[in-house]
Amino acid sequence: METMLIAHVLQRDAIGRTVRLRGWIRTRRDSKGGFSFLEINDGSCMANVQVVVDGKLPNYETDVKQLTAGCSVTIEGEVRESAGQGQATEVHATRLVVHGWADPENYPLQKKRHSFEKLREWAHLRPRTNTFGAIARVRNCVSRAIHDFFQSDGFLYINTPIITASDCEGAGAMFRVTTLDLQNVPKSNGKIDYSLDFFDRPTFLTVSGQLEGEVFACALGKIYTFGPTFRAENSNTARHLAEFWMVEPEMAFFELTDNMELAERFLKYVFGRVLADCREDMQFFNERIDNTVIATLEGIVGSQFVRLPYTEAIEILEASGQTFEFPISWGTDLQSEHERYLTEQKFRCPVILYDYPATIKPFYMYVNDDGRTVRAMDVLVPKVGEIIGGSQREHRLDVLTRRMAEQGLKADDYWWYLDLRRYGTVPHAGFGLGLERTVQFITGMTNIRDVIPFPRTPGSAEF
Ligand code: ATP
Ligand code: MN
Repeated sequence: METMLIAHVLQRDAIGRTVRLRGWIRTRRDSKGGFSFLEINDGSCMANVQVVVDGKLPNYETDVKQLTAGCSVTIEGEVRESAGQGQATEVHATRLVVHGWADPENYPLQKKRHSFEKLREWAHLRPRTNTFGAIARVRNCVSRAIHDFFQSDGFLYINTPIITASDCEGAGAMFRVTTLDLQNVPKSNGKIDYSLDFFDRPTFLTVSGQLEGEVFACALGKIYTFGPTFRAENSNTARHLAEFWMVEPEMAFFELTDNMELAERFLKYVFGRVLADCREDMQFFNERIDNTVIATLEGIVGSQFVRLPYTEAIEILEASGQTFEFPISWGTDLQSEHERYLTEQKFRCPVILYDYPATIKPFYMYVNDDGRTVRAMDVLVPKVGEIIGGSQREHRLDVLTRRMAEQGLKADDYWWYLDLRRYGTVPHAGFGLGLERTVQFITGMTNIRDVIPFPRTPGSAEF
């Protein structure tokens, strides 16, 4: 007998097959005619399969009639055409085995709907709900599409370190990694003696794989990293996590416009794949979460992103007549409200902002001829704001060392990074895409904590 996923059992071509299926009960309904209907889900798709269980089964009274939401079962039976509405097939059970009961007095996931806040307290159970099952499948599709895009475009997948000694760019506050005894920290001359620490120096969890990514791009051409990233910013927002996943392509011989072109093509590919491969899940998000998500993605796949220099963006914002909570002027960084004005009201599409003031961007970005802007680019999308941050990198040794000195960075700490400019330097560029912001944008989920399996945020790491 063939074990079949419910996604397949639901297809017409399964009719007539004798199958084994496994999953969890969503509902049970007993008919007066002495048989029962079960709705079973196994996570392979959003839909449940309906199973008809005859009262003549030997364990009908002892097992079948006791089934409630959350119980796990194996069912053997025949797939038949369904007489019911909205489903092509159903299964007529010849055998049913219960693996685990779920006491309805205590099992939290009963029929009634729970808020996403409540479900965060049950992060170990929420994958069993429709919404979180759909998110897991979309997230998987996005990850797969990311690899497919780069793999078919000549990129090498590189794994950069998670423990790092370099405070890359000051991208955000960092988590310390240490084996020192916090109750009894060794000191010399009043300072912590890191020579006694595991790595013989202060170390942290990475905030970006970029610097190491550049090493490989400057040897192998086009590379990407895709891994966990950690930022200890104490910002309790709906778009920030302390642990998130970032995709970082880095390309030798790319300038800023090449970088923009890649980012746009990349996003369109990923969105297109989700639309094609996760139809059922996307319909769910469109119906239950945000009724614009499908139209938005379809619109983006077939449109052109706006490319807007930072200086022009400031002019637009100043002339907008809007009252912003944070005032904006040339030289200040955009806040979420400004990003949203540009993408949601002014242009109604993704916007690539570029050529930012040097003073608000890290040392490694290429300095333009005007001397006051750098070749940075952020891709902004409606609702979520920034999903990509990137730049052309400064590949001129003299400019780079000057910028580092200006920002108070010690050249010695970056000796290997500077070597890339000493030996065979080339123009190069790259960007970072936040996986969770991408899934947030695609699904319309308003809080980033709901698009990662186990969110890490200030004060919260229970699971
Ligand atoms: P923001 O200004 O939104 O805090 P950032 O400019 O600090 O982001 P970058 O350093 O440019 O972020 O990181 C690249 C991408 O990583 C961002 O565009 C975003 O998609 C994602 N990202 C950054 N910080 C976080 C975070 N704390 N949680 C989730 N995703 C993040
Ligand atoms: Mn950024």
